[in-house]
Amino acid sequence: MSDPLVIDELSFAAIDVNSIYFDFGNGYGDTWEEVSICLLQCDYCQATYIDEVYVEGGPCPNEECYNVEGTLERPECAPMMNYGYPLPYYEGDPEEEQLTLYQSSANVVLVELIGVADDDAAYVLALSGGGMDLSFDICHAYILLGYAPPLQFCDLPDFAGQDNSQEPFASIIKACLQSVESVVQRAERRKEKLLAAQSRTGQ
Ligand SMILES: [Zn+2]
Repeated sequence: MSDPLVIDELSFAAIDVNSIYFDFGNGYGDTWEEVSICLLQCDYCQATYIDEVYVEGGPCPNEECYNVEGTLERPECAPMMNYGYPLPYYEGDPEEEQLTLYQSSANVVLVELIGVADDDAAYVLALSGGGMDLSFDICHAYILLGYAPPLQFCDLPDFAGQDNSQEPFASIIKACLQSVESVVQRAERRKEKLLAAQSRTGQ
């Protein structure tokens, strides 16, 4: 079982975001670019190495791979679905966080959007795996990057056979409850303000 996710200091900056359509099937290097990952993986033994020490395309340091010429390749971090998930006020280290995402169980990658006017929109999350409802993955990725999950993706699916007392599910559900609670509080404040406005008569 993995460690619980850190969810007590999440930013609520992404609470209202929704997915945006983006054509990742076209414009590679022109409108978007893969955030490269600081990791190399042997194509034979599948072991991973930090690339500051080893060379892409070079031999695997594992002795078992000498005879079979296992070489180190950079894992692909390409999006598979044409949607981007915004990261408001993003200030992370993209390559480091790409590695964090890659090492998690979330099927999500960081993608750089090129030529967007607003600096905040320069990086988005994108799904790197297909499948059924990926709300757990999206929420998981937002949490790994320090964001409370957006309300839109807190409608988590009910997967038969998934033990929600296990990580990362337990932490994801907890973080979603925090997000929902913050929206409820905001709605209540707004309601109070409107009720107060309604009873104001100008006298
Ligand atoms: Zn190897």
